[in-house]
Amino acid sequence: MAQDTVFTPDVRFVRELKKAGGDTLKKCYQCATCSVVCPLSPDDKPFPRKEMLMAQWGLKDELIKSSDIWLCHNCNDCSKYCPRGAKPGDVLAILRKSVIQENAFPRFMGKLVGDPNNIWQALAIPVVLFLVILGATGHLHIPEGEVVFSKFFPVEFIDGVFVPLSGLAVLMFAISISRFWKNMTAGSSMKPKAEFMPSLVETLKEIMTHAKFKKCDENKDRSVAHVLVFYGFIGLAITTGWAVFNLYILQWELPYAVDEHALSIFGGSAAAAWAYKIIFKLFANASALMLLAGGFLVIKNRLKERAVETTTSSFDWLFASIVLLVGVTGFLAQVMRVTGFPAVLAYATYFIHLVLVFYIIIYVPYSKLAHFVYRTAAITWTKMLKRDVEM
Ligand code: SF4
Ligand code: SF4
Repeated sequence: MAQDTVFTPDVRFVRELKKAGGDTLKKCYQCATCSVVCPLSPDDKPFPRKEMLMAQWGLKDELIKSSDIWLCHNCNDCSKYCPRGAKPGDVLAILRKSVIQENAFPRFMGKLVGDPNNIWQALAIPVVLFLVILGATGHLHIPEGEVVFSKFFPVEFIDGVFVPLSGLAVLMFAISISRFWKNMTAGSSMKPKAEFMPSLVETLKEIMTHAKFKKCDENKDRSVAHVLVFYGFIGLAITTGWAVFNLYILQWELPYAVDEHALSIFGGSAAAAWAYKIIFKLFANASALMLLAGGFLVIKNRLKERAVETTTSSFDWLFASIVLLVGVTGFLAQVMRVTGFPAVLAYATYFIHLVLVFYIIIYVPYSKLAHFVYRTAAITWTKMLKRDVEM
């Protein structure tokens, strides 16, 4: 005898989806055009039609456990062809954001960072923290003489904030992702047919080459913007690790000239010391430039998407704007330092830059950047199930 399956609709969840931008959800009449045109949807149990139905019914528990919503790369081919203007691409994007909030540890951080209405509270945390540190250490004033950022906000203070809080963020992220993995794998009716490690390696290769983006039709341009932001971030992460190596292992603060200590590191060769310094600076600036260019392109593409009848959520706008502002304030601070702008402007720009960097790094388990890890986990799982579309 067939067994009955009991679903529990969550009306509040439907309301939240609609409020977050999925107000077109109810227009879907299940024609399945979206599943047919989606270049990334598998033949068996394709998406996004079934997710539209589940979202209409408020089947929150099922959607939170779904790995399929992470196979979508938000190309919006489906939204373009949807005869009802139900915007399935946008609905899936909102669902992914909800999954991050649901799995967030601690939960209130998911709400704080995930809801763009809380942006001022989220930014107030680093502002207050930095002001307290500067005030308590007697640095809450504009230093005299040449603009040197470490005179205003010493590197040790920055490390004292960022190193432990980054460690905490990694721990919170690990807990959030393990929650997600547990829910996703427990909620699957299929059994894995492949091992974890080979599936993960295949997933990472696919992500590094952005192979899936290339399958999209409507929004192919997003691939370039995504590649620039992605590698810009990786470059800046390497730069940060490299700077820590220079400071604490070589004990050489690079912004300063090649001195005796630097010469002793490089066996007395000034040319080698300068070459090392220049390579570091070029790498750091190239990474920042990629981030900046990627940020501009993300904004440009978002504006273009408006023309193809899609709704970019304020969550996406917020992230794109912050990425752009991090790049802009970083460059401006550098330019102001070397071109003799009024010191107060240079230090204020640097302070804003640090606040934005805090937002990007410390809030990573709850922000748009968390997508990278959630998506990697979900694609790995679908590869283990052999459910993924072959590239
Ligand atoms: S979202 Fe649009 S294309 Fe997809 S099933 Fe609904 S009405 Fe059809
Ligand atoms: S946005 Fe693109 S990848 Fe996502 S469901 Fe629609 S067509 Fe598929």
